[in-house]
Amino acid sequence: MANAARLASLLIPALCLVACPPQPSGVPTPSVSAPVDASVPNDAHPSPESSAPIDGGSRIDSAAEHAARDATTEAGPIDPHYFDSSTIPHGVGCVSLLDGYGIAHRMYLGRPALQTGIVVNGPIGGIRYYANGNIPLITDCRLAVALARVTPMLKDFGVTEMRFSGSYVYRRSKAGFLSSHAYGLAIDVHGFTVDGERLELRKHFRRGMKNGCAADAPVLNRIACEFRKLGLFREFITPDFNRAHHDHFHISIARLKDGSAD
Ligand SMILES: [Zn+2]
Repeated sequence: MANAARLASLLIPALCLVACPPQPSGVPTPSVSAPVDASVPNDAHPSPESSAPIDGGSRIDSAAEHAARDATTEAGPIDPHYFDSSTIPHGVGCVSLLDGYGIAHRMYLGRPALQTGIVVNGPIGGIRYYANGNIPLITDCRLAVALARVTPMLKDFGVTEMRFSGSYVYRRSKAGFLSSHAYGLAIDVHGFTVDGERLELRKHFRRGMKNGCAADAPVLNRIACEFRKLGLFREFITPDFNRAHHDHFHISIARLKDGSAD
């Protein structure tokens, strides 16, 4: 379990990168030229970043999170806030949830637009996230918590691994807006290991299906169907959307209105 005081001392200055005066020392200043992983292809996103309406008052604490998660695992979602990404706080509150899920990580702070940056050092809810070239999963804590919340659904399909190409990548969309990747709130997933078999989106997702939820649809289509049903994600883009997404799911959650980092 992380030490709360230490985390607070790390996080509070980071959260002040925009809203607070410059710190005298100790906090890295975000550079203009942000780190970009050149191995991650740019993808065209369908819309500029704009926050969906968010109920800033509906936060659930760690105990409620655990209760909701247990109930969700056993009897389906009973707390409507569980799949509302605005119930996932940023900062110390998020790290507390992350610790509650037992997700190994280290903090990754002081990066442009990345509010509660982490490097994930282990599985999320028992599911291993890996990438070609062994690049680590660098993301915002809130997205990691969101992924933890969908774990029961993924396990129902027999998913044990997910292959991604990138989460946090500081870049702008063609229209000049910061992509959800720039906030670490999106991940591109290219493959799933299901019951020991490695399935790739480009091969095993059937494009143009009228009903991807059907029992006889390919498993990746059915997984996409379930992702959408949860309502947790602001964007869930499949190979059906356009050529830029022919080989991956683009999955993102909404930013918090009170947690803007730009
Ligand atoms: Zn993407």
